[in-house]
Amino acid sequence: MAHIIDGRKMADEILDEVRARVARLKGKPVLSVVLVGKDPASEVYVRKKEEACARVGIRAENSRLDEATSEKKVMVLVRKLNRNRKVNGILVQVPLPRHIDGKKVTGEVAPEKDVDGFTAVNVGRLTSGNELEGFVPCTPLGVIEMLKRSGVMIGGKNAVVVGRSSAVGKPLALLLIARGATVTVCHSMTKDLAAETRRADILISAVGKPGLITGDMVKQGAVVIDVGITREEDGKLKGDVDFGSVKEKAGMITPVPGGVGPMTIAMLMKNVLKAYEMQGGK
Ligand code: NAP
Repeated sequence: MAHIIDGRKMADEILDEVRARVARLKGKPVLSVVLVGKDPASEVYVRKKEEACARVGIRAENSRLDEATSEKKVMVLVRKLNRNRKVNGILVQVPLPRHIDGKKVTGEVAPEKDVDGFTAVNVGRLTSGNELEGFVPCTPLGVIEMLKRSGVMIGGKNAVVVGRSSAVGKPLALLLIARGATVTVCHSMTKDLAAETRRADILISAVGKPGLITGDMVKQGAVVIDVGITREEDGKLKGDVDFGSVKEKAGMITPVPGGVGPMTIAMLMKNVLKAYEMQGGK
């Protein structure tokens, strides 16, 4: 049976490390979170980010805007935060209401404050192999950190990423390539998903379809990381991986909840600290 990777414990360790580093600073890093509307999932994520900030000593300054706020007003706020020298990191919580172009707004964040790693400059850095010079999206970064802290060697392995979004699948594939994996990226048009996933030494699913990955799709001993989060009608959170059947085949597996989710927030705290230091904060 697979070893279960405890994302909560790992995230706690990272938060403790960030807190110790923040405590040695003369100033306090500041994260500004922009939340538009009342999407319940976004409210939960923002609250968790606030809690993590409080825990590590980062000041969270949140702007909560009404659902009907115009795109222009949100853009003006982002530009104002870009100019505010007291703000080190800016995060625009997505999804934004339908009348707002999310890509346009997140793309407006100053690259040096872009702790979500969504701007063209930071995507370019990652693509060109200069990820350390900028910011990488927190979820893929969290997956890589999980693999590292679990002692999983990436170089030379067959890695299969299911999902090709700009926030998760694509940056994850780039991070794995940079670390020497042979990477296959699958998506909704992949002809035979099981044939691809069965070749994976490291299998990462980031789709949002509960039960998509079943035991018969997994190679014996593979490392299986479940990024997917879906809230079912009964309120329970489900990953993409059918935990019961896959844990019998995998060598390591992450649960949902308690896997990648907490790591995402921990990596955000690391990114805010990095922004503070890169902006010359002592
Ligand atoms: P997304 O933008 O909706 O992307 C989903 C991807 O899955 C797309 O590339 C899509 O393919 C692919 N896909 C859909 N059906 C498929 C199928 N049957 N077989 C193979 N691929 C399929 O979602 P996302 O933002 O990347 O998020 C993915 C999941 O991760 C969601 O459940 C989300 O809630 C979760 N998530 C978790 C965290 C965390 O911290 N744990 C953070 C972010 C996201 P096409 O491109 O062809 O449509």
